[in-house]
Amino acid sequence: MSNDQSAMNELHWLIDMVQTIEVGLVVLDSSYNIQLWNGFMENHSGVSPNSIKGQNLFERFPELPAKWLKQKMESVFLLKNRTFISWEQRPYVFKFKNYRPITGRADHMYQNITLLPLASLTGQITHISIIIYDVSDIAINKLQLKAVNEQLEQLSQTDGLTQLHNRRYWQQCMEREFERNARYHDEASLVMIDIDHFKQINDKYGHPAGDKVIQHIAHLLKQSLRETDCAGRYGGEEFAVVLAKTNAADALGFTERLRKRIEESEVTFDNRIIKVTVSLGINDIANSGENSSSWLSGADKALYQAKEGGRNQSVLFNPSMPDL
Ligand code: GH3
Ligand code: MG
Ligand code: MG
Repeated sequence: MSNDQSAMNELHWLIDMVQTIEVGLVVLDSSYNIQLWNGFMENHSGVSPNSIKGQNLFERFPELPAKWLKQKMESVFLLKNRTFISWEQRPYVFKFKNYRPITGRADHMYQNITLLPLASLTGQITHISIIIYDVSDIAINKLQLKAVNEQLEQLSQTDGLTQLHNRRYWQQCMEREFERNARYHDEASLVMIDIDHFKQINDKYGHPAGDKVIQHIAHLLKQSLRETDCAGRYGGEEFAVVLAKTNAADALGFTERLRKRIEESEVTFDNRIIKVTVSLGINDIANSGENSSSWLSGADKALYQAKEGGRNQSVLFNPSMPDL
């Protein structure tokens, strides 16, 4: 075979490969007119190379992010450097359907894209190549993994019965708030809530009824909160709340509103009406003492006083209260 023939063969093979490779290949001139459009592009867009050759990419595909893409391409022409666009930056540039059976959950193809400067024999950059990789499988796996991780994280922070924060997560929240106060001297109050005579509810109506009461109180509590407050299920029938930017007087207003709402509400279980009350202890961060656990134990002491005082009431902690 002569050299010429062999070169012809190679060229022929190369063209075949460009046409059939599972990667999108497009070549544009400096005015964004299409010079090459391979089989992958044809298969996914339904537009044949013959019908598109010489046409302007952005006129032919007005849905493309023209301004953004032109900016990228101009810098490729100018700097003579390739540029890479990841699906995480932008899920796709060409909106192609995703046909993969396993990854049928996404309706579009995720794409990684390389913009490659093409030099003429004289070394000038006259054309640009767009190389499009279908990364749907990788992208969908990664997105699904991320969603599962977020779910797991959510589960690890949440109490199953009430959907409030669990004790561990609430504790972190409370400690963060304490440290924030130490730095910025923001107001905050900590509230401990305990259902009155809860044992009797369990004894009289059964444990599932008790559970429903706990959910009911949690629901009313959630309704009373602001976005910045942090509430958790601290124990069986105990709840703890950090009220952000709230001094003692405002915290007392909050606890009394909640207490009355609970007192006026009722839970129906097996056609029986159950009524409960709660006792609440409040500690303004101004009285917190030296650390977050003394802030918490102050609220606990106030709660104890509320129980001692006859239950169904709110009590503010003051430093002269006796130790438990
Ligand atoms: P007090 O007014 O002094 O708070 O009286 P109490 O009966 O509420 O006091 P105590 O804290 O001794 O009783 C709490 C009871 O709550 C004991 C336990 O059986 C019950 N309990 C704890 N966790 C759960 C739960 O998840 N579901 C139900 N149904 N009961 C629970
Ligand atoms: Mg208790
Ligand atoms: Mg109780």
